[in-house]
This record gives sequence, structure tokens and C-alpha cells, in this order.
Amino acid sequence: MTVAVLALQGAFEEHRKMLAKLGADSFEIRQKKDAEREFDGLIIPGGESTVMGKLLHELGLFDIIKEKIESGMPVFGTCAGLILLAKSIDNDSAIHLATMDITAQRNAYGRQLGSFFATADFGDEKDVPMTFIRAPYIKKVDGDTVVLSEVDGKIVAARQGNQLVTAFHPELNDDTRIHRYFLDMIKK
Ligand code: GLN
Repeated sequence: MTVAVLALQGAFEEHRKMLAKLGADSFEIRQKKDAEREFDGLIIPGGESTVMGKLLHELGLFDIIKEKIESGMPVFGTCAGLILLAKSIDNDSAIHLATMDITAQRNAYGRQLGSFFATADFGDEKDVPMTFIRAPYIKKVDGDTVVLSEVDGKIVAARQGNQLVTAFHPELNDDTRIHRYFLDMIKK
């Protein structure tokens, strides 16, 4: 199994380490020819969604990636990756790949709570460590989107078919359960 990690900006290296720990091969997508390779799943990391959104267009990656997701390729967006996948962003006029039926709220925890740590359940998994960095949350899910985690009444993880998103950064903790969940999505 080979997982591509979008490596334009942000926290992509840590995702690759996580995948290696779980025995999955990975490579980085930095330009168009990388996105044209064969791969089984894609991780869109945290970073700055406006910058990544712009680079996707400038590097000619936008259409290839959107098309792959729409034709069912498993994708996992963390933090800014969640924002890039959202069909609607409550406090931003820009939308990006817009493949998932969620409404995201950017920088949703304000300045004071810009970064924090929590533990919460994720689907059937108990007490998963969650690191939030200037994180969004999901204000609303639509269609057949399933909520997987909530912290303080806010939705912080969800899945719609081949698409998984977390508002937090699972790659920054030692717990491999979220990445394993994504690899299981690819296997099925
Ligand atoms: N605040 C960033 C954004 O709005 C997301 C932060 C992150 O990915 N850690 O794009």
C-alpha cells in the first residue's frame, strides 16, 4: 500500500513517520508529476489552508487531486486539510477542493485557545490524544457524513465515505490509532 502525502507546506513529515511506523509506504506530492503516480490514499496535512489552496492551483495539482477524491480515492485531511476538503467555510469566502459535506469554522478557538491538548473518543476508540493548533472545528455536517469525535460539544473528526477529517493533529502524538483507521479505510 502506498500513501501520498501532500508536501507543499506544513506538517507533512510527521505523517510520513506515522505511516512508516505502521508499515505503509509513502511519498510526497510536491508537483504535478508526483500526483500522476499511482497511490492508494492521500493525506492532506495541517499548515495554512489559504497558502496550500493557492499552491494547489499554481502547481496544477488542484484538478487531479479533486478528481481522484471524487472518484473514491481515500483521503485524510488534518486541520488545514479539513478546511481544504470542506464544501463550506463559515468565516471565509474562499473554498478549496470542496469535496466533503461539512461546514468548517477556521481558527475557531480564538487567540487564547489557539493551541491546546485534549483526549476524547474517536469512533470506537477511547481516550485518543488530540493536539489542536489554531484549529478549525466542524460547525455542521451534511449528507451522509458521520461524526467521529467531539470535544467540548464541537465536532472535531468526521467521515464521509472515502473522506476522513480531523481538526487536530494525530501525527504529533505517539498514538497511531487514527492513522491505522485511515489505513483500514484504504484496505476496505
Ligand atoms: N489555522 C490554519 C488555517 O486556517 C490551520 C492550522 C493548522 O493546520 N494547524 O488554515
